[in-house]
Amino acid sequence: MSEKWIYFFGDGSAEGSGDQKELLGGKGAGLAEMSGLGIPVPPGFTLTTEACIRYHASDKNYPQGLESQFAEHLHRLEELQGRKFGDPQNPLLLSVRSGGPVSMPGMMDTVLNLGLNREIVDAQIAAGVDPRFIRDCYRRLLTMYGDVVLGVPHALFEEVLAEVRREEGVETDYEISADGLERIVGAFEEIIERHGKPFPKEPIDQLWGGVRAVFDSWNVQRARDYRRLHGLSEDSGTGVNVQTMVFGNLGPDCATGVAFTRDPATGESRIYGEYLVNAQGEDVVAGTRTPHAIAPRDESGGLGDDFPEAFATLEQVCANLEDHRRDMQDVEFTIEHGKLYMLQTRDGKRTGAAAVRVAVDMVEEGRISQQEALSRVVPEQLNQLLAPVFDPEEKQQAVSGDRLLAKGLAAGPGAASGRIALSAERAAEMAGTGPVLLVRDETSPEDIVGMHASAGILTSRGGMTSHAAVVARGLGKPCIVGAGALTVHEDKGELSVGGQLFREGDELSIDGTTGEVIAGKLAPRPSEVLRVLLEGKEAESPTVHAFTKILTWADEERRMKVRANADTPHDAQVARSLGAEGIGLCRTEHMFFEEDRLPWVRQLILAQEEEQRDAALAHLLPVQQEDFVGIFEAMNGLPVTVRLLDPPLHEFLPHDPKAIEQVADQMGISPADVKAKSEALSEFNPMLGHRGCRLGLTSPEIYDMQVEAIVRAACALSGQGRDPRPEIMVPLVGSEEEMARLRERIEGVVQRVKEELGAELEIPIGTMIEVPRAALVADRIALFADFFSFGTNDLTQMAYGFSRDDASRFLPDYLESGILSTDPFERLDVEGVGQLVSLACERGRQTQSDLKIGICGEHGGESHSIDFFETCGLDYVSCSPYRVPIARLAAARARMSQT
Ligand code: PEP
Ligand code: MG
Repeated sequence: MSEKWIYFFGDGSAEGSGDQKELLGGKGAGLAEMSGLGIPVPPGFTLTTEACIRYHASDKNYPQGLESQFAEHLHRLEELQGRKFGDPQNPLLLSVRSGGPVSMPGMMDTVLNLGLNREIVDAQIAAGVDPRFIRDCYRRLLTMYGDVVLGVPHALFEEVLAEVRREEGVETDYEISADGLERIVGAFEEIIERHGKPFPKEPIDQLWGGVRAVFDSWNVQRARDYRRLHGLSEDSGTGVNVQTMVFGNLGPDCATGVAFTRDPATGESRIYGEYLVNAQGEDVVAGTRTPHAIAPRDESGGLGDDFPEAFATLEQVCANLEDHRRDMQDVEFTIEHGKLYMLQTRDGKRTGAAAVRVAVDMVEEGRISQQEALSRVVPEQLNQLLAPVFDPEEKQQAVSGDRLLAKGLAAGPGAASGRIALSAERAAEMAGTGPVLLVRDETSPEDIVGMHASAGILTSRGGMTSHAAVVARGLGKPCIVGAGALTVHEDKGELSVGGQLFREGDELSIDGTTGEVIAGKLAPRPSEVLRVLLEGKEAESPTVHAFTKILTWADEERRMKVRANADTPHDAQVARSLGAEGIGLCRTEHMFFEEDRLPWVRQLILAQEEEQRDAALAHLLPVQQEDFVGIFEAMNGLPVTVRLLDPPLHEFLPHDPKAIEQVADQMGISPADVKAKSEALSEFNPMLGHRGCRLGLTSPEIYDMQVEAIVRAACALSGQGRDPRPEIMVPLVGSEEEMARLRERIEGVVQRVKEELGAELEIPIGTMIEVPRAALVADRIALFADFFSFGTNDLTQMAYGFSRDDASRFLPDYLESGILSTDPFERLDVEGVGQLVSLACERGRQTQSDLKIGICGEHGGESHSIDFFETCGLDYVSCSPYRVPIARLAAARARMSQT
């Protein structure tokens, strides 16, 4: 017995089920589920993803038994429908559609109307079938088969269609006459023949050609790009669905459409979607005709008016599907002579705002648990709710100043400004030098890399479910589609709109929340969610309510604390408003770069005499103290980890003549002396040079001054009844001896200042673990550290030997060619750097079982890395203030997946 490669569905039953997504692909599982629920689904069968995997593993040969099972299932379908595939008198027509376990919009291909050829078309016309209809079906088959299976450029077919439309003086394809369609199919057959292989006359050859094309499409470049960009596995395959055709193009009582059970942009609970009368499946998503809203907001028209019965059934089906699948669905349907058929259901792609709102609403509707809601929101999606919007006043001025160029459909919320690129390739190239807006008539799957690289996407055609709209929402990019006033001349590198001409590289702004396209650049401002949180107000809108709710639930689940990396009182305040429970890293070097301080820091470094050094220190101490007062105040009652000076000295040295002169003047020495001293201090490899605790050991006065400023600031505040909680952190420690000596020195200063001020204050002294050696000897270092905090930026740099400052020269190539699957500076390399982290935790806690351990590298705000930190038992993660909400949610999800 060979393996079962094919599963039947239809007629109120199914061999497979909705939870077999891995085996049947998302589409196949959805069809099986709907069929099992008695929802009207045209019958068909699904070839499994396993069959696709085996096909690729055996050099594109079908696995044993597949062909005979295929024949049996085809026969079963023919019996059920009372039609025969390839029979000129009574033909069964089929579609072939792909569907992997995870939906990849536009990545895979569809062929409709398989089972037609000239002879069958003519026989059907002779038998009384409307020639317009059957030829329209045939020309669609030729286009899709030519394009998808035989690789004929789509544009060649479009040119013929455009020519016939011109000849007949009509606007749309569905107005073309039967004679016109006859000319079109003749021309299409010729195009295909000229391009290489002729169109297969035998219906069964078409069917197998379609199946093979779907299997093959798993491996095309754009599908691989999509999987790479979305971190999807290469080890799977796609299912193939062979399904009886139903027709939305049989006349004015037919239609085709797509719908979401909730609004995919905002999450509001109402059916949302679009349909086209007298059209076939792909027309709605292809964006060639602008479709109608199913349920317009003002309740005028819509599907309920045009097809009342089908609309009522659709409403029931949507409710039924949400009950069963317990998530918002994205469905495709066709209405044939007034009767509704469902062609697909899958969990709908949604914006970050919709993800949060749907999850929270579903808990409040009693459909899912709080934990499920948390698992439904990808932490990084929260970014979209915090993303900036345009300042309303500035936008209003632009609009009244005649800068509003066009209005399209608001397909992806958020605001973006940038230079325009008129092709995806250009967008990808230009993105290296600043934000880019990709502007096209419509996008296609080949554009995915360029879309990813763009800050926003704007198209002149298409509806809310066009490729551009769906992909942009998935990527969280601001997007406007169907801005019909735009004309894109890609060949000339020009965009014309309302009599104005823009060239590639000119600036435009788009508001994906309202659909407005504006000339020039607009400055963005904080989003509604951010504004409400920062101002500490009550939730004003369902979006803000949902955002705060989901984070409250996350806080109930998580074990790890979330702190922020912040070095100003303002950043500390922002972080606190977003839920930070302290500061995990306050980088003091940023404070030294301020204009009034830099010359004194330079003097400190270049000082040849004690007097010069003391003068600089005396100048810097009060300003440092003031900095700390501000930060401790903002974080009153919460821990603040202050890291002593870290970066390479060369960053502080004066280079240009003006700066040299200024320092020389201040120090009373010659510019030549300053220059000579600077040159003497310059290093070949500053990142591995005289920085961090090495500087603290060789020039201890700098750390002494910083520690004194910390203690004085804290004592001053506690004297006023405040509750400062400083922690002192030493950077770049690689050996026990470094830590031991510095600890002793720091303790000495703390003690001296406390005694002088007569204050009582506990200040923990800890270290960063960011040099690989420190991780290896963590048990020894822990003898002198009250806490560890992983500096995974440096740890990654030193573990890989990749310079943080230069890795961008080769990392893109590494990622492109698959040497690395992700950027290790963005997502922690668990396999390698992760070993150092877990080893250091283990060894550190051998010495001190309750050693407090955190992470303050960039990875502290990245959800996959946070998953790993949970497994290491870290006490907290620390990340940039705006990533705090992401980290809160990620920490909750990480905890949930552990227990
Ligand atoms: C680190 O190295 O991870 C770190 C937080 O320190 P910095 O980025 O300042 O070197
Ligand atoms: Mg570091």
